[in-house]
Amino acid sequence: MTPTISTLLYLVAAVCFVMALRGLSSAATSRNGNLYGICGMVIAILTTLLSPAITKYTGIIGGIALGGIIGAIIAKKIKMTALPQLVAAFHSLVGLAAVFVAGSALYNPKAFGIGAVDAIYTASLVEMSLGTIIGAITFSGSIIAFGKLQGLISGRPLVYKGQHIINAALGIGLIALVVFFTVNQHHSIFWIITAVSLLLGILLILPIGGADMPVVISMLNSYSGWAAAGIGFTLNNHLLLITGALVGASGAILSYIMCKGMNRSIINVILGGFGTDPAEASTAAVSDKPVKLSSAEDAAYMMSNARSVIIVPGYGMAVAQAQHSLREMVDVLKSQGVKVRYAIHPVAGRMPGHMNVLLAEANVPYDDVLELDDINSDFGATDVAFVIGANDITNPAAKTNAASPIYGMPILDVERAQTVFFVKRSLASGYAGVDNELFYRDNTMMVLGDAKKVCEILVKSLKGSH
Ligand code: NDP
Repeated sequence: MTPTISTLLYLVAAVCFVMALRGLSSAATSRNGNLYGICGMVIAILTTLLSPAITKYTGIIGGIALGGIIGAIIAKKIKMTALPQLVAAFHSLVGLAAVFVAGSALYNPKAFGIGAVDAIYTASLVEMSLGTIIGAITFSGSIIAFGKLQGLISGRPLVYKGQHIINAALGIGLIALVVFFTVNQHHSIFWIITAVSLLLGILLILPIGGADMPVVISMLNSYSGWAAAGIGFTLNNHLLLITGALVGASGAILSYIMCKGMNRSIINVILGGFGTDPAEASTAAVSDKPVKLSSAEDAAYMMSNARSVIIVPGYGMAVAQAQHSLREMVDVLKSQGVKVRYAIHPVAGRMPGHMNVLLAEANVPYDDVLELDDINSDFGATDVAFVIGANDITNPAAKTNAASPIYGMPILDVERAQTVFFVKRSLASGYAGVDNELFYRDNTMMVLGDAKKVCEILVKSLKGSH
């Protein structure tokens, strides 16, 4: 294949990736977005495989087969609730790849067309250094994020005195090392740069607490994109450059949107030390104030007599896989003339878009699913807010308690509905480990139990009552 044709095909692949991103921006078009992404990737891989520079296929095909099989098995087995840590684990591999590419360019610069050993072009040395720095930070940072989300490391922010000074010192040290490396090209300096970057990745992510993990994941996603763009520079591969920049920019924009959704600045997230250990959060001290306990049957009665109901799904719905029975419940209510809509908080669940994906899987019509800004003002005119497996995203402490770790995060104003039902297994707190004072309010009814089981009873009761 001539270089002109391969450049043209890479361009087609890049356009597919842009279309994929566009498609993925809405649940209604996300399937098409995925298809564009797959097409782009197939074109990119085939074009690369047909490049005259590739003379042996065994290693490549072996790698694709092995990686493909491992990926397919993981994709089949992974639980929806474990997707954030899987994404973190995958980001770490992109980071590691960037380090390996930079390393191989250092040892075999001729193969990359960037000079000879100990006589590598200065610009390439800088690219290599940036590639390995971003790659190593992405690698170790993603592993820490994985450990936190998987519960292997405490989700609590591990802050210590002088952390910012140490991080700043490491950053400045890295700049000095890169200058040193571009001047003398010592291989040992390259590996010191890599080691310092690995350490920086660990130190940057450790102080970030559980509740800020979504932003961290999206930030690492952005880093992995820039790492890939760095590999693109080293390999002189335009497609990798474009794709890396697309991933890098979209990850950065997503981080910004999430920060805006939580009403925090990205600097505050990175330097904040915010949130608690999710494991501890679920066993956090629960207030002994009285609560009104209710049952699924009572909830069914109230909702079938309501004019309007807003459903607020959260992480617990995902854990219980209650989306299908929830939709069945809503179908019955609608058939009885009740106006039912779903309110989605930007950080409900454990990954951006978590609730949208689950509701789409249960064939909930997109028009019934509304974002926070579009529905929040309607709670005041709503008879029943049905909060299913959600907690932090409804907690008024985010508005009223400046000392609370979730202070500043916008919340769904369920408290303004006439009656609020909370479906959860206990009075335990949510991910941020903060007690929710709504449980003890006069207009709140607690329906304690597994979200799916409660929905199933509700469906039976609703059907039985008509
Ligand atoms: P929360 O974690 O605040 O609350 C979920 C609630 O679900 C828990 O209080 C739990 O209570 C309940 N629950 C768990 N299992 C079940 C079950 N089987 N049946 C019924 N209830 C169940 O979730 P929210 O969605 O309200 O808020 C999301 C939180 O996660 C925010 O703090 C956000 O910052 C954070 N986060 C968000 C990410 C994202 O990108 N969306 C990523 C990572 C973190 P109980 O144990 O009593 O049942």
